Amino acid sequence: MHYPEPVSKLIDSFTRLPGIGTKTAARLAFHVIRMKEEDVVEFAKALVNVKRNLHYCSVCCNITDVDPCRICTDKSRDSSVICVIQEPKDLVAMERTKEFQGYYHVLHGAISPMEGIGPDEIRVAELLTRLSDEKVKELILATNPNIEGEATAMYLSRLVKPFGIKMTRIAHGLPVGGDLEYADEVTLSKALEGRRELF
Ligand SMILES: [Zn+2]
Repeated sequence: MHYPEPVSKLIDSFTRLPGIGTKTAARLAFHVIRMKEEDVVEFAKALVNVKRNLHYCSVCCNITDVDPCRICTDKSRDSSVICVIQEPKDLVAMERTKEFQGYYHVLHGAISPMEGIGPDEIRVAELLTRLSDEKVKELILATNPNIEGEATAMYLSRLVKPFGIKMTRIAHGLPVGGDLEYADEVTLSKALEGRRELF
């Protein structure tokens, strides 16, 4: 590399982002060089702010700039249901459906023995505290439909059983617009498992 040091440093920083290789990083770096200085400052500020001004909600563990977060302080929601999800972006996806009116709990990961992630590494203890304090009637386990997500749902269902709370798992099925013959076995068997009665 024959770039001046500030350039190679910026390229190096970009390569630390997921999905960015050296070529893309160089392209981005040269884009930054061509940007107006005020826009670059704005961009740099946004990067720093996201670290400095974001906290975890003391109730649901979602990332937030106010504590408790805006969802946890929204009294119009149904306090009898908590939907457990893995990541903050899953909450955004759920909210986009406009179907769910309850509250959330963000685990920040899933149990993965392969990667050495146990229940203590994710926000399970916080969930249990909520279940003892709040009057929750249903817990929706909306962790991902993969090995880690299933293991986490299984673990939670055993753990929460003594609380006598109804536990449901989101149905995993075929993508809308999909074709049965192209679905893999796991998806198809999950879709079959999650079938429901008509009428
Ligand atoms: Zn919250």
